[in-house]
Formats: sequence, structure tokens, C-alpha cells
Amino acid sequence: MPGPYRIRDVAPEITQRSDSPVPTSPAGPTPAYSALTVLECSRCSAGPYDADRVQGTCGCGAPLLARYDLAAVASWTDPGQIAARPPSLWRYHELLPVGSAKSVVSFDEGMTPLLPMERLGAELGVPRLLMKDESPLPTGSFKARGAAVGVSRAAELGATGVALPTNGNAGSAWAAFAARAGLPCLVVMPTDAPQITRAECVAAGAETYLVDGLIGDAGRLVRAAVADRPGFLDASTLREPYRLEGKKTIGLEIAEQLGWRVPDVIIFPTGGGVGMVGIAKGLRELRQLGWIGETLPRLVAVQAAGCAPIVRAFERQADETEPWPDARTEAFGLTVPEPLGGFLVLEAIRATGGTAVAVTDEQLLASQRQAARAEGAWVCPEGAACFAAVAQLRAAGWLAQSDEVVVVNTGAGLKYQQTMPAHPPLIPAGAQIPPR
Ligand SMILES: [Zn+2]
Repeated sequence: MPGPYRIRDVAPEITQRSDSPVPTSPAGPTPAYSALTVLECSRCSAGPYDADRVQGTCGCGAPLLARYDLAAVASWTDPGQIAARPPSLWRYHELLPVGSAKSVVSFDEGMTPLLPMERLGAELGVPRLLMKDESPLPTGSFKARGAAVGVSRAAELGATGVALPTNGNAGSAWAAFAARAGLPCLVVMPTDAPQITRAECVAAGAETYLVDGLIGDAGRLVRAAVADRPGFLDASTLREPYRLEGKKTIGLEIAEQLGWRVPDVIIFPTGGGVGMVGIAKGLRELRQLGWIGETLPRLVAVQAAGCAPIVRAFERQADETEPWPDARTEAFGLTVPEPLGGFLVLEAIRATGGTAVAVTDEQLLASQRQAARAEGAWVCPEGAACFAAVAQLRAAGWLAQSDEVVVVNTGAGLKYQQTMPAHPPLIPAGAQIPPR
């Protein structure tokens, strides 16, 4: 399928490179569509792994991270050139793993608004509050970024299908992009996932199953199914390397939208942790390119009090998370009791002087109503949790009044109708609205 646009016609076709040693530079001085080189383990020194084959996790079980020839990127392009490109996440294609514009599967996603939240910021005591609003993305959540890049790369590498467990929004995003790529998609989600997301998966033709359990149970079903389906990619969170690459474009966009600089703080709702890890990775790549300054924003991971394994590990100064028993929250996307990449989130928070915060369902639902009333922004419960965290961190003095704070609203509140009870009075036809 053709991409939405073509930058250059010199992008070399990806060829299978199975022989060692693994090459370390894709194209040298000749500009290529992607500067992807190899995959490295995020935990151990095994590898590097060949990036031009379908790969899962490292032999040690940890996620693999895509590495790029950043010196080559710096010689091929610059922020000025990027600014002139179409406003989608594919404007950063040198820093993405897809080897050719022809392989891009897209709805023109990305470059979502970075909105000043003046009224809400004043109420919360943080006047320089901004919201990176991911709700306009295809399928209504930030999951579209990971799906765009993950599905494009999976198809490019010859996967025969994609399969994933989901708390809802990742499933609807991957189902939509897989349909657009002509790839079969298998989705397993908990029965408690937002109902609209199962309809979205079914509508996009995905083979969809519900499980009477949590996302970990869905993951086990997916792994067993994939083992029986040759060529299927297990696209579970951080079990393939490229969903993360899509997510990192949130960080790239925030930096570009601020004029190639970073805010003081970025606050992100954290379930599986890919968004947070992706933002950190993207900003580190920009720093290495010299496109932003040395100081990174303090990264804040927000979880729900009913499922907060990362917050607990952070408070205990542990490097790893422990499984959270009886996970439960209205912010269903945060119901990830055992995040595979928890240690990467903890590393990103600590390296940037950030923190991890848990908020109760009561707090996040109140923040959801507050944001809607103050700004007309019906954010998803996960995004609302971040505004609740702003209030908490400001009260504790961790956030200063002068801080420039970006909250990432990861999706549309419309998908969670049950979180906004609405019972307007019914007026019989022919009767009158009471006077004020
Ligand atoms: Zn490893």
C-alpha cells in the first residue's frame, strides 16, 4: 500500500541480512527513509539483533530497543526540513523503523494538538499547563501511534498477521491499521474493557475474543495462539520492538511544537509503560542529535491507586515492579498489574528527576469532570488521572507555579461514557423549561 507521501525515491529496499556480523549503518552518506541499524536488549548485553527480521524479546525475556545511526540522521536532515513535511508522525521517518515510504500504513496520524489549558491551569495553580491531546488520533487514542508503526513494520517484514492482548484501545487501533494493511488481526481483551473497543475490533474484521480475566490472561491466550500460527507477530506490549517507536513520536512532537525545546515536566498515565518509555527514548535521541538541549523534562508516571505497581516500586526504591494483586480501576487502560517494561519506566523517571504518583478513582473522576467543565475537554479517565496528579504534586510542592507542565491525554473520554453519569431532567413535549 502506498504511503501518504514520498520524501525521496532513493530509499533502498530492505533486504534480508541474516549473515553475521550485523551491519551497523544502513546507508552511510546516502539519505535513507529510515536510519534503523540494529536492535539491542534493554536489559542485558546479548545481541545486537538483526532489525530486518521479525523479532520478539531478547533471549533474557526483556524488550528489544531499536537503534538508529543518529550521526547519519544529522547529516541527512534537520528540524527545518522536518517542519516543512506533512503534519503526521511520519515526518520523523528517519527516526522510525519502517524502511520505505511504500511500506507506510497510515491514516495520516500524528501531530496532535498541544493545547494551553489556561482555565484548568489557573484552578490547579499551574498556569503554564498544556495538554497534548491524543484523542483526535484514528480510533481515538494514542495507541494509533504504536499501531501505525508496528503494523507498517510487521507488514514490511512479511508477518502474516498480528495478535495482541489489550485493555481495549490498543486492540481497536491495531485492528484498524491491520485492516488497512490487509493483515489478519487477532485480539483478546478482558470483558471489562470499554465496550466500544470490542465493537471497533469486530467492525475492523479482527478475530476478537473476550477473556474473563485481566490483560495478563489475555496475553497468555495470545502467546499460545501465535505459537500455532506461523508468521503471526505477537504484538503484545514491548514483546516486539516497534510499537514503542510509534509512541516515542509523542515526545518528538512535544519538542517540535515547543520550538525544539522541552517543558519542565511531562505527566503521563502509565499502564504498560510504552508511552513513557517511548517519550524518554525519543527525547534522548533528539538530545543526541543536538536538536534539543541537555536537560530532559522530569517525567511523571501516573497510575490508579487500584493498580500501581510502578508507584510502589518507585517508593520502595526498587528497580523492578512486583505483580499487583486484585487490580481494579475505572481508568481501565491502567489495569496492567505486571508491566513487562516496568523497570524501563522506573529508569526513565529516575534518570530525569521525575516521580510516580497514584490517584484514587474518586480523584480521577472528579478531575475528569473538572477538565470538561473548565476547558470543554472530555478527557479519558487515564488522562484525567494526570490532572489529578497535577493537583496532588502542586499541593505537595513538587510542582512549582512557574513549571511548564505537559499532561498527555491519551484518549477520548467519549469511549468511557459510563464515567460521566448524565441525567438531565425530562420535560414533557409542550411543557416549558423552568425559569432560571
Ligand atoms: Zn537481554
